[in-house]
Amino acid sequence: MLCPFCKANETKVIDSRLVAEGEQVRRRRECLSCKERYTTYEVAELLMPRVVKQDGSRQPFDEQKMRAGILRSLEKRPVSTEEIESAINRIKYSLRATGEREVKSMDVGEAVMTELRRLDEVAYVRFASVYRSFQDLNEFKEEIDRLSSQKQSSNSPASIAKVSASRSTDNKSSDNKTTDNKSAGNKATVNKSTENKSTEN
Ligand SMILES: [Zn+2]
Repeated sequence: MLCPFCKANETKVIDSRLVAEGEQVRRRRECLSCKERYTTYEVAELLMPRVVKQDGSRQPFDEQKMRAGILRSLEKRPVSTEEIESAINRIKYSLRATGEREVKSMDVGEAVMTELRRLDEVAYVRFASVYRSFQDLNEFKEEIDRLSSQKQSSNSPASIAKVSASRSTDNKSSDNKTTDNKSAGNKATVNKSTENKSTEN
């Protein structure tokens, strides 16, 4: 390809390696005229099945749209681009592996959720809440319950602190002014420690 800086066509590859679990080749290149360096990625272009929407209409598989949805769910989450690309490759692989020429849009959504669940719990819940909102509310609620019960068993000190914090707030209404101030102070400290805990995750 032409140098993106000066359009010269002589470039030299200075580094080449496999990324995204071997499904991409990353090449570091240097332009022989202007000496600028840049990176290219090479991927195989494979035919994806068409997507059948719920109203029966057919659309070509739209990787950019899927990627945008995934990135939106992962906004500000501690997940690397490399991990995201691998997940997208696995989703595409699983859809091709069906061997069908058409897949339901729901199957695409399910494949995305399977990967997000592995990558990041918060992103998974974000995606699922948008995707499943009017489709299956009960199932979504069960999922949230499952995730929060997992959370409680993994960081019990934080959840205990949270429970006692809400208790002291409950007492507030029946207590006099002095205890009121005290419990408010406690609450602030407890909230802070819960917050720290959640950033660790
Ligand atoms: Zn150049």
